[in-house]
Amino acid sequence: METNDELNKRIATLSQSIEQAYRANQSMEKALTECSEKLAQTRSQLIKVTNSKILFKLEKKWTTFWSFVSVFLDPGESSTSLREKFFMFFKTMWSWARNGFKLEEEQVALRRFEICKGCPELKTPDNQCKLCGCMMEKKTKLAGASCPLKKW
Ligand code: SF4
Repeated sequence: METNDELNKRIATLSQSIEQAYRANQSMEKALTECSEKLAQTRSQLIKVTNSKILFKLEKKWTTFWSFVSVFLDPGESSTSLREKFFMFFKTMWSWARNGFKLEEEQVALRRFEICKGCPELKTPDNQCKLCGCMMEKKTKLAGASCPLKKW
């Protein structure tokens, strides 16, 4: 049989243990809260980074697309109307399709491009032909394409 003193001691020890467990639980809760806050911050940073990457890619694509379209639409020093340019563009595409969308051999494309480089109708630095509005670095590679002045 335990005496009152012993029982009191036991109760005191038990309440100490309960208090320690309570404190440990509190600090664990604090650590968990901090952890989840940090996770939320990291998540929002990740979202920001991902969004900005996507936006950057979209912006880059749009800039490339727009620079191509604006160069094509820009009458500049061109003596050809937009209607004629579109007609020549579709003619080139049609001809390329009839040739099975093949690309010319590198030597042929290079020879064509060399002719364009010596032509006064070539606009630099875009390497765009003022007559057909095409980018000659690309057009010279297409099978079935031709020069509007029949230089190649
Ligand atoms: S396609 Fe013909 S007209 Fe146009 S730049 Fe080349 S050579 Fe000149």
